[in-house]
Amino acid sequence: MDAAADDARTHLLGLERPALEAFVASLGSKPFRARQLMNWMYKRVEGDFASMTDLARDFRAQLGEHAVIRAPEVLSRHDSADGTRKWLLRADGTQAFEMVFIPETDRGTLCISSQVGCALDCAFCSTAQQGFNRNLTTAEIVGQVWLANRELGLEPGGLRPVTNVVLMGMGEPLANFRNVVPAVRIMLDDLGFDISRRRVTLSTSGLVPQIYKLAEETNCALAVSLHAPDDALRDELVPINRKHPIAELLEACWHYIDEQNGRSITFEYVMLDGVNDQLSHARALTRLLRGKPAKLNLIPFNPFPGTRYRRSPMSVITAFRDELIQRGVLATIRRTRGDDIDAACGQLAGRVNDRVRVRLGDKLAHAMGPRATGDVAVGDVAMGDVAMGDVAMGDVA
Ligand code: SAH
Repeated sequence: MDAAADDARTHLLGLERPALEAFVASLGSKPFRARQLMNWMYKRVEGDFASMTDLARDFRAQLGEHAVIRAPEVLSRHDSADGTRKWLLRADGTQAFEMVFIPETDRGTLCISSQVGCALDCAFCSTAQQGFNRNLTTAEIVGQVWLANRELGLEPGGLRPVTNVVLMGMGEPLANFRNVVPAVRIMLDDLGFDISRRRVTLSTSGLVPQIYKLAEETNCALAVSLHAPDDALRDELVPINRKHPIAELLEACWHYIDEQNGRSITFEYVMLDGVNDQLSHARALTRLLRGKPAKLNLIPFNPFPGTRYRRSPMSVITAFRDELIQRGVLATIRRTRGDDIDAACGQLAGRVNDRVRVRLGDKLAHAMGPRATGDVAVGDVAMGDVAMGDVAMGDVA
């Protein structure tokens, strides 16, 4: 099949149930065929129509002609000694993104990307340094979950290894609302991946209008990157705060919980040495969050080349957590996994992009600053190792 013909085929991993039913109907088949198809795609993680033996031969042939079940292509895979696995996936000719799987005794958490790069420019984030390339499609987002399940292999009893999904890889999910929401719905659909809504967590830097919209469209768990207790500091760390300040953001969060009958919002808080890690910051946080359906997840900062920030010492992080807990706010410290494979959301993808650019002889890459020249130190401490689901990750309380 040549590329042009391939592009014309419908990517089934991008279709929610009603759209898949409509597609099946357009081929002249009954809606229940869509159910059978979903069973193959999501429960058995099958990608080859020819193997779908309970579908009529003609229907299978039609599917082969008009449709495709395709996950993103794997560029490389990295296995950590602690069991964490990271994949670098191809978006386009020169672009890559990544996903990370973190196995634990009682669950398997997959951290997926929603965009290639990111436009939000958070001061301490390595992905921000790459700038924004493009939104991932619904099929590419769902395809990550599909691919991980397939690569890891079904467990005994046909159980899929991915039990939890966190949208905490590259990108701002709510800036790609149109593709992310159907993807989340496919993950929750009982004919889809059938993951419980508390086990699919969308993390946002705080796009307030989209949080309200999200409450209307789906009911997954929500994590919010807070990182500062006051607007002056948050303006600096998370620039979207200048548009949607903390009070507005928190209103949206409580609305989300009310609408969705959710348990609580997880607030992420990156611990930056001497910046936001004083006990006075902890006390200010308790004034914002005490008595609310909130928990704080403290993330030890992961430095990367060129950053001016440093990680707070562990003693400071634990004192910060203790202050929060003493004052009645639930707080945990995020555990670090996959250190040895540099499981850095955004960083590894950046390096591959650079290599490809160089190979293509694009000298412009060199004009784009140190991150584009490919001379970034390889030993960067990773951000991806912690950018996984706190909700899902057995944090130390
Ligand atoms: N755009 C979404 C998802 C981002 S990644 C969001 O902002 O929530 C998930 C988490 O990793 C976010 O809380 C993000 O702020 C945090 N993060 C980014 N860079 C980091 C770094 N260098 N060290 C530790 N955490 C980082």
